[in-house]
Amino acid sequence: MPVTYRRAHGSDTWHFRNDCTHWPHAEFDQQSQTPGNGVCCMECTYWPSSNSILHSFEAPRHTHSDRHPW
Ligand SMILES: [Zn+2]
Repeated sequence: MPVTYRRAHGSDTWHFRNDCTHWPHAEFDQQSQTPGNGVCCMECTYWPSSNSILHSFEAPRHTHSDRHPW
């Protein structure tokens, strides 16, 4: 399934997730190729998704445990 990029008119931010809260629904530019200019929406990039490899971008969790592995 091709990714669709949308950018609201007057904005430099491209969105590629249609469930992004900033996903433009009107007055937008749309293309299916990776935008060569502008910026990528941080929310689209970092939004946790169950079927996304973007989890690797999440900050590592420093969970303190009283059990050491050694
Ligand atoms: Zn977005």
